[in-house]
Amino acid sequence: MRKKIVAGNWKMNINVNETRTLIAGIHQEIEAFQLQNTRVVISPSHINLSTALALTKESIMEVAAQNMHQAKNGAFTGEVSADMLQSIGVQSVIIGHSERREYFKETDAILAEKVSAVLENGMEAIFCFGELLEDRKSGNHFKVVKSQLQNGLFHLESKDFKNIVLAYEPVWAIGTGETASPEQAQEMHALIRKTLAEKYNQEVADSVSILYGGSVKPANANEIFSKEDVDGGLIGGASLKPADFAAIIKAI
Ligand code: PEP
Repeated sequence: MRKKIVAGNWKMNINVNETRTLIAGIHQEIEAFQLQNTRVVISPSHINLSTALALTKESIMEVAAQNMHQAKNGAFTGEVSADMLQSIGVQSVIIGHSERREYFKETDAILAEKVSAVLENGMEAIFCFGELLEDRKSGNHFKVVKSQLQNGLFHLESKDFKNIVLAYEPVWAIGTGETASPEQAQEMHALIRKTLAEKYNQEVADSVSILYGGSVKPANANEIFSKEDVDGGLIGGASLKPADFAAIIKAI
């Protein structure tokens, strides 16, 4: 059975003290939850990863990095490698978030290399992709999403998908307060699964968790998560508020 996953992307927010407070707050909110077949992931900035890892040792919460460089090592001032992340105990890395694609010009080709580097270092990649508003308006959204999937991941073998989580995030819904309707999310998730089945096989397609991201809040989480092919959410803004993040976890 595919895992349900609620992952919080904290982006470039909160310092180390605030990180401690937020983790304590989430712990307090979710400690009584009986979560079955569900993973809870938080993703602090690189500088706060070690703190977060130490504070979640005994907890259901897992810690993911938000990004990393694709090269093994070398003259890439300011960057962090897969080996560095793995060596401090990070098990998952978010790759291809739309902010990385847009502001840091990360192309499909770069992201494909990053995914490989994550897997080669024994970690899991949470691979994000999704169409721009203009793609949806022009009716190209299925084509765009399919090509992001193919270009970013289809160099992998089927066995690699046990360490892949997908996050469909329509860019027009990220941080905007606009959400894809549950039907739009389901339609795209079903297409993603079908595309995986065609390229690999039904087993791969059925086993990969596909998260929806884009203004998921306590008020809409239930409805979005009720859809058959939606296996959870990648949560931005609401993951910085313990009560909201907990309410979204409860909705899974
Ligand atoms: C995100 O950044 O991945 C995201 C989904 O943000 P928000 O929930 O704030 O739209």
